Amino acid sequence: MRRPIVYYMLTQRGTWWPPEVSSHYAKELSRFGSVVYFRQGSEREEAFRQTFRHLELLRHVIADPSPEELADTEYYFLSAKHEPGIWADQASSVLDLSAACDGNGEVDCRRGAKVVRPVVHAARKSKALDIAAIPGINPPRLHLLSARARDLLSSLGATGCSITPALDKSTGALSTTRFQLHVTQPVSAPPDSGKVLRIIDECPRCGAVLAGHLESLPVFKRDEMAKTDFQYFDAYRTSNRGEIKLVNEIPLVSGRVMKALVASGMSGLRDYLTEPPIRFGVAEIT
Ligand SMILES: [Zn+2]
Repeated sequence: MRRPIVYYMLTQRGTWWPPEVSSHYAKELSRFGSVVYFRQGSEREEAFRQTFRHLELLRHVIADPSPEELADTEYYFLSAKHEPGIWADQASSVLDLSAACDGNGEVDCRRGAKVVRPVVHAARKSKALDIAAIPGINPPRLHLLSARARDLLSSLGATGCSITPALDKSTGALSTTRFQLHVTQPVSAPPDSGKVLRIIDECPRCGAVLAGHLESLPVFKRDEMAKTDFQYFDAYRTSNRGEIKLVNEIPLVSGRVMKALVASGMSGLRDYLTEPPIRFGVAEIT
């Protein structure tokens, strides 16, 4: 694993770190305070573990590769920023919801929705990101691309996706500057995530999970992944609840495409996590 980070989180609902954690481990506390993190094997971690062994903690190890190491990893989680000028309320005009879960009107599930019309964009050129997430249209996962990002993906021959023009708000015609990236290739089986420790929120109709705690980060099996540059998954395999479905489709991108996006200085890629701070989210594969 590349430059592993170890992080700890509290598992019990409604509990918070004792004051000694914020006073002694302020540097290691994540931005929103939900985890305490260390470089794996550091003395500080050992001291922390000894001092707080009475707390019920979940310990995870996660890779934290540098930009130079990007091509050494097969797949990353694709994570992009929202761009100003793309609205969250486009879902009803862009999606076909006829086969989608309505969450009994209690939660915004939409599992099974399909993108059938182009997204409208009105972002000023100066604000446009090369790759941007579209808020509110979820599922399925879609991104907007600049012409530059579209050209890069075409020149790489990126697979597992399709790229179509978005709709330009000012002309009402298909855009020549903004494109949408659809990740079309699913993995053939969901990744393993150990035990479900706690479900925080789930869809009352289809059972898809909106939030919960899993024992481990997802681990994919190599022969259950596609060979394409882009692919997505929408479930976890667990040891105590079988397969659990997710409301979101989570896209992955190959190391070679990620490296090219970063090396060309494409804007819009978002840090994978703030808790702990991880810039590039490695998909673990066995
Ligand atoms: Zn549902």
